[in-house]
Amino acid sequence: MSEPGPSPLAAGDKNLSVAQAGQAIRSALQPITGQEALPLHLALGRVLAVDVISPIDVPAHDNSAMDGYAFAGAALMPTGPTTLTSVGTLMAGAPWIGTLASGECLRIMTGAVMPAGLDTVVPLELCQVQSDAVRIEPGIIQPGENRRRRGEDLAAGRPALRAGRRLAPVDLGLIASLGVGQVRVFRRLRVALFSTGNELRTLGQAREPGCVYDSNRYSLMGALHRLGAEVIDLGLVADDPVALRQTLQRAVAEADVVLTSGGVSMGDADYTRDVLAELGQVAFWKVAMRPGRPFAFGPLRAPAGRSPVWLFALPGNPVAALVTFYVFAREALLQLAGAGPAPMPLLQARSLTAIRKRPGRSEFQRGIVEPAPAGGWQVRLTGSQGAGVLRSMSEANALVVLGHDQASVAEGELVDVCLFEGLA
Ligand code: AMP
Ligand code: MG
Repeated sequence: MSEPGPSPLAAGDKNLSVAQAGQAIRSALQPITGQEALPLHLALGRVLAVDVISPIDVPAHDNSAMDGYAFAGAALMPTGPTTLTSVGTLMAGAPWIGTLASGECLRIMTGAVMPAGLDTVVPLELCQVQSDAVRIEPGIIQPGENRRRRGEDLAAGRPALRAGRRLAPVDLGLIASLGVGQVRVFRRLRVALFSTGNELRTLGQAREPGCVYDSNRYSLMGALHRLGAEVIDLGLVADDPVALRQTLQRAVAEADVVLTSGGVSMGDADYTRDVLAELGQVAFWKVAMRPGRPFAFGPLRAPAGRSPVWLFALPGNPVAALVTFYVFAREALLQLAGAGPAPMPLLQARSLTAIRKRPGRSEFQRGIVEPAPAGGWQVRLTGSQGAGVLRSMSEANALVVLGHDQASVAEGELVDVCLFEGLA
């Protein structure tokens, strides 16, 4: 068994701000190293393990930036008008064969290859044309204008995309434009997921009095799939040290990360702490945030030769579980998966209501962001902000993010919001 590295923060309860907790997590993690080659069409959302180097110049030839007439810039008369004779038409994708005499030009379409010796394109709308005669008034165009140079977007041998890039649709197009059909990406991060609590029932089970369905596993599974992780679903685990130990041992054997919900609040935590202390160096934090105060994080010992397995133990309340996932686990899992820094994407919206808030903790309230009639964005809070009310999170399309030191917000003030759709 390999020893985990030093715990980011000593075990035991720590009071931390959101910023301190995030920093402690980020500084503890090392990205996975495993890679695989994938055909381009399967690479959406995957993280590049090496730079994509362009094998070609882009564009591959000097070409025209405009529909117009291509000619040699040296033919421009310094004072009077220039008159040229058009001797043919060049379409995109059909290179010109032949040579031009001085005083001749070619009708050229945007993207068509510039014939050798021609360096300037006068746009159609800037010249007067009478059958084959093209007249250009002085001062309208300078030699070399409207020519896109070979390699001007990207020279052969230069990186088109850097390692750590999480591939978006446009990146797939960019890579295809280079003629590259395969990419090296990091393997998927393997995340073992389970829920804890005697009161939980899984879908399909009878719901006895006092029991609730396990919803966290489904919301977290969805969030993990969006991040591109491979989910190992370990189901429900009872509040029992033997069951917890067994499940964690299995998780450690199979996964890079263990994600749990429930069982880290004060009342719950006694045997959880004992079991986790046996298996690794997990710190229990009280994070100054609402929702989501209890949170545990740290390394579990992995089988020999493997890096530590990182435990993220989220609070059980369904909203708190998802909010702490978005605030801490999302960025951390992207980091482990080899992606570049991915802080929560924030924008600003005008609050339609006053929001009560005391400095000294971060708050994440559920809100509906919509276009404001006068331009920009506005936000209103959804109904109950209770940590267990999943419906109000489902009605929301964003979190209103109120910083640690921020006080109450007046109606009409700008606040930070994070759109759920912006969260990979
Ligand atoms: P805990 O953090 O275990 O004390 O749980 C806090 C609250 O969240 C309790 O009301 C639990 O019933 C509820 N809860 C815990 N885990 C889940 C889950 N997986 N799905 C739905 N509710 C849960
Ligand atoms: Mg519980």
